[in-house]
Amino acid sequence: MTDDLTRLTVKEALRLLRLGSVSAADLVTAHVQRIERLDPHVKAFLRFTPELWEKQAGEADRRIRQGDSALPLLGIPLAVKDVLCVRGVEATAGSQILKGFRPPYTATAVQRLFEAGAVMLGVTNCDEFAMGSSTENSGYFPTRNPWDLGRVPGGSSGGSAAAVAAGEAMIALGTDTGGSIRQPAALCGVVGMKPTYGRVSRYGLIAFASSLDQVGPFARCVDDAAITLSIMSGLDPLDATSSDRAPMEVLSNFGGGVKGMRLGVPREYYDVKGIEPGVKASIDAALAVLRMQGAEIVDVSLPHTDYALAAYYIIAPAECSSNLARFDGVRYGISEVDAPNITELYLATRRKGFGGEVRRRVMLGTYALSSGYYDAYYLKAQKVRTLIKRDFDQAFQKCDAIVSATSPTVAFPIGSKTQDPLSMYLCDVLTLGGNLAGLPGISVPCGTSDGLPVGLQVLAPQWGENVALRVARAFEQASGVGAEVASVV
Ligand code: GLN
Repeated sequence: MTDDLTRLTVKEALRLLRLGSVSAADLVTAHVQRIERLDPHVKAFLRFTPELWEKQAGEADRRIRQGDSALPLLGIPLAVKDVLCVRGVEATAGSQILKGFRPPYTATAVQRLFEAGAVMLGVTNCDEFAMGSSTENSGYFPTRNPWDLGRVPGGSSGGSAAAVAAGEAMIALGTDTGGSIRQPAALCGVVGMKPTYGRVSRYGLIAFASSLDQVGPFARCVDDAAITLSIMSGLDPLDATSSDRAPMEVLSNFGGGVKGMRLGVPREYYDVKGIEPGVKASIDAALAVLRMQGAEIVDVSLPHTDYALAAYYIIAPAECSSNLARFDGVRYGISEVDAPNITELYLATRRKGFGGEVRRRVMLGTYALSSGYYDAYYLKAQKVRTLIKRDFDQAFQKCDAIVSATSPTVAFPIGSKTQDPLSMYLCDVLTLGGNLAGLPGISVPCGTSDGLPVGLQVLAPQWGENVALRVARAFEQASGVGAEVASVV
C-alpha cells in the first residue's frame, strides 16, 4: 500500500487526499519509507528536511479537515535541487565551498510551491554549481540512475530526476542552463521542463550562467509538470529578469492534441554525431505516433548547430567566472581563516572549496573575458548566439514546435566520461540551443533502448510553453509511454 502511494501522479494524489482516503502525513510517510529503503543505493538526496515536512504536511491535513482543499499542490511531496535557497536549510550548490551556508530567505520558485501546499522532503544532489551532465561533479558523491545503479542519472539536476524516477518524490525542482533538466529527465525516464527565459523568477537561485539559467519541474506526467511550472511562473519584483507577462495558464489549451500541428525535425538534430541507433529508433517510433495523431512532420534546419556547443562553452564559463567571484571565504560557506592575509584567504578558500570542473570553467571564463581576448571569444560567441536564435526563428516559420531526441545517448556508465570533459559536454548538443535562444522545452519519456529510458524533446517558440506541453501530452496519451517508477533493487 505505501509503495503504491509513491507511484501516484499529483492529480491522483489530490483526488485521494480530497476523498479523505489518504492524508498528507500518509503521503510523506510512504515517501520517507521509500527513501529509507532506496536512497542508500540511489543517493538522490544530499539532506532531508523533516522539520519542514512535518509542519507542511500537518498544515495540509489541517486544511483538509477544515474542508479547504483547493490548493493545487496540497500535500504533494517535493524535492528541491541544491541550488535553490530555502530559509534555514543548508544550501551548497553541490559544492564544498558553501558547506554550512544556511540562507536567510527562500527562493521565489520554491516559496510559490510552498504557498500552493507542497511538502518539502529534502535537498537533492547535483553537479557542483550545476556544471555537468552526470551529477558526478557533485562535491559530495555521485547519484546513481534508478534504472541501473551502475549508470549516471544525467545532470546537473541528476538528484531531482533520480528522486522522481525512484518514487522518492512526486515532483522535484531542477535548473536548466544547457540542458540540466531535460537531459537527466530523459536519462531517468521522467518528464522535465525548462521554461522560456524569464518565465520563472531566479530570486534565491545560486547563479551559474545568468543569461541561460532557468528553474523548472520534474514530474511523472506532463500534466504534473505543467501545474508545477505554472505555479512558479510569473513576475517577481525581486528578479528584474522575470517577465511581466501574465503567468502561464494551466490546462488551458494544451489538452488539444496535435492534429493539424506542424512538427519540425531539424536534420542537424536528427542525425547528430554520436546518436545511438536505439535512441534514433525510439525517436522514429515517436514521430510515427505523432504522425498517426494527425501531426504533419516537416523537415527544418538549424544550420548553426555545429557552433552551439562552442558558443555555450564560452558564454557559460564567462558568466560563471563572474558569478562565482563572490565565493571568497568572507561572505558564505567555508573560510580558510588561518591564511596570513586577505588575498591568501581568498585563494586558499577557493582552492579548497571548488572542484576540478568549476576551476576549469572559472579559468576558461576569466580568460575569455580578459582584455585582448574579449572580442575574439566572448563577443564572437555572443554573435554566434544571435545566429542560433535566428535559426530557431526561421525554423518556427515552418513549424509550430521542434521535436528531437533529448540526449544522443541513454544513461552511460559511471566514470565513463569523467576523464574527458569534451565527451561530457557533448551530452547537451541537443538541449543547449534552446538555452542560447531562451526557448521553452520539455523532455517526455519515449520508450527504452537496451532497457534504458529515452527522452523525446519538444521545443517551442518563446512563451510557447503550452505548445510544447500540448505536443508532449498528446504523445504521452497516444503512446501510453509514461514515466514508470524504477524498481531499483
Ligand atoms: N551540462 C551543461 C554544463 O555542464 C549544462 C548544465 C546545466 O544545464 N546546468 O554546463
